[in-house]
Amino acid sequence: MSRIETICVQGGYTPGNGEPRQIPIIQSTTFKYDTSEDMGKLFDLEASGYFYTRLQNPTNDYVAAKIAALEGGTAAMLTSSGQAATFFSVFNIATAGDHVIASSTIYGGSYNLFAVTMKKMGVDFTFVSPDCTDEELEAAFRPNTKAVFGETLANPALIVFDIERFARAAHAHGVPLIIDNTFATPVNCRPFEWGADIVVHSTTKYMDGHGAGVGGCIVDSGKFDWMAHADKFPGLCTPDASYHGITYAEKFGNAGAFITKATAQLMRDLGSIQSPQNAFLLTPGLESLPVRMKRHCENGLAVAEFLSSSSKVASVNYPGLPSSRYYDLARKYMPAGTCGVVSFELKGGRSAAETMMKNLKVAAIETHVADARTCCLHPANATHRQMNDAELAACGISPSLVRYSCGIENAQDLIEDLAQALDSID
Ligand SMILES: *Cc1c(COP(=O)(O)O)cnc(C)c1O
Repeated sequence: MSRIETICVQGGYTPGNGEPRQIPIIQSTTFKYDTSEDMGKLFDLEASGYFYTRLQNPTNDYVAAKIAALEGGTAAMLTSSGQAATFFSVFNIATAGDHVIASSTIYGGSYNLFAVTMKKMGVDFTFVSPDCTDEELEAAFRPNTKAVFGETLANPALIVFDIERFARAAHAHGVPLIIDNTFATPVNCRPFEWGADIVVHSTTKYMDGHGAGVGGCIVDSGKFDWMAHADKFPGLCTPDASYHGITYAEKFGNAGAFITKATAQLMRDLGSIQSPQNAFLLTPGLESLPVRMKRHCENGLAVAEFLSSSSKVASVNYPGLPSSRYYDLARKYMPAGTCGVVSFELKGGRSAAETMMKNLKVAAIETHVADARTCCLHPANATHRQMNDAELAACGISPSLVRYSCGIENAQDLIEDLAQALDSID
């Protein structure tokens, strides 16, 4: 059972004789034991099992195991949101006084988390362009650098991250590469095969795919040798006083240390567990992921090609188009396709974008992407509304930019809808 379509459907949960075929929802905050000794072993991490759903729940663990198998990792945990997954993945190894290098084109929520909130917590970030030179990347490392963070396919810039190159640089400095693989999904890219060490997901996007539940996931490749860089990672390589002196990297090895620490410390203290109900809702999304991703990519390419041929459109950004400057990187890391999100600029400026959006009938205006239903957003009127045109220009967003997320509807219907909306611009 090694191929992605089969893992999507069958991975993570194997029912025994007479047990439920579907992953059961264990809607219970707590679990019953016969003796205090049994429970004590769980608290000491001497035995594995469940005692309180703030830390772990069986439904979540089945779904996490499926995602771990999809990414080719050794361990995974679900979190309440993609934001929580990103935060835990970094905070698990970088705390006050530490430094992290991140790509400058990561998702806006990740950028805020790093540049504002984690900065207040004492973690310093250097943002480098994903297209920086090797020298620029090298210059960003400091003695207290603990990780490098990038996004396979940046939301919304759709820039393809050169995972292999950044992994090489991170490893030369003895730190792991963390990759947000939300937009590509493991169906289109498996970052561990290119040297990444930790992967995070907002499962809210393609994995759920139906706009049903907010959630996140962290997966460990099990490949990073923490003990070989013990001086950099005291949290993993020295005894944890809050867990009876356990040294995670010793007791759980490279395969289990990262996720065990994130569960035992961060979930325990910060409580960002995904609800078992949402983990259950995520399951059918994961099962159909390869079928949907194929359609999202076909629709994305068809829409991008149509927009490229329109006289009303000034530019189209889609890494699956041969004219894209990221086409070669996309072919390398995502040979089966990238995603369904296309961004484009209109010739008539802000008002042209407003007119076109108003006239779309199939695509809905939403602050969401990567959904079965086509949706679109005008950043100048939504996520970047507080900025004037000069400020928009400074962060590379044109007032006429539209982010269009192709769903799994019929491509011809999407194109006809766009065509009539573009015709409405005078
Ligand atoms: C949406 C998103 C996130 C944040 O996920 P939430 O589930 O909304 O918290 C992180 N990274 C990427 C690439 C995203 O698109």
